[in-house]
Amino acid sequence: MTSGNCIFCKIASGAVPALKVFESDDAVAFLDISPLAPGHTLLIPKSHYRDLIDVPEDVLARLTSHLPKLAGAVLRVTGATGLNLLQNTGESSGQAVFHVHFHLIPRVADDRLGFRWNAGAYSPGEDKAIQAALRAALAGA
Ligand SMILES: [Zn+2]
Repeated sequence: MTSGNCIFCKIASGAVPALKVFESDDAVAFLDISPLAPGHTLLIPKSHYRDLIDVPEDVLARLTSHLPKLAGAVLRVTGATGLNLLQNTGESSGQAVFHVHFHLIPRVADDRLGFRWNAGAYSPGEDKAIQAALRAALAGA
């Protein structure tokens, strides 16, 4: 399955060039054209799925099976001491290309990438209500 206007489908098929670092029957990894750090790599399935909600479990399992070796290679090659795995689903999350993908972002201490973790707190009872709603939603899943 492909989508005619999708840049990642075109990269997967070879119609649009990219700096590919890995390719299998069903997946491609390539350097992000606008890297947050040198070696910032994207992993995509060759088939078109919009986002994490859209991609079938078996496709996702095969795709993510490539992450450990990719992450190891990115770390070794870049000399980074850490790596963030980032998956954006939905425009509000920052997803810009609507073909599911994972970012492998190499990190070093004080690299000033600016990821913030502004942790909040639940109001009384809010956590239990969300837990119950999620458990109910997942019970039939
Ligand atoms: Zn696509």
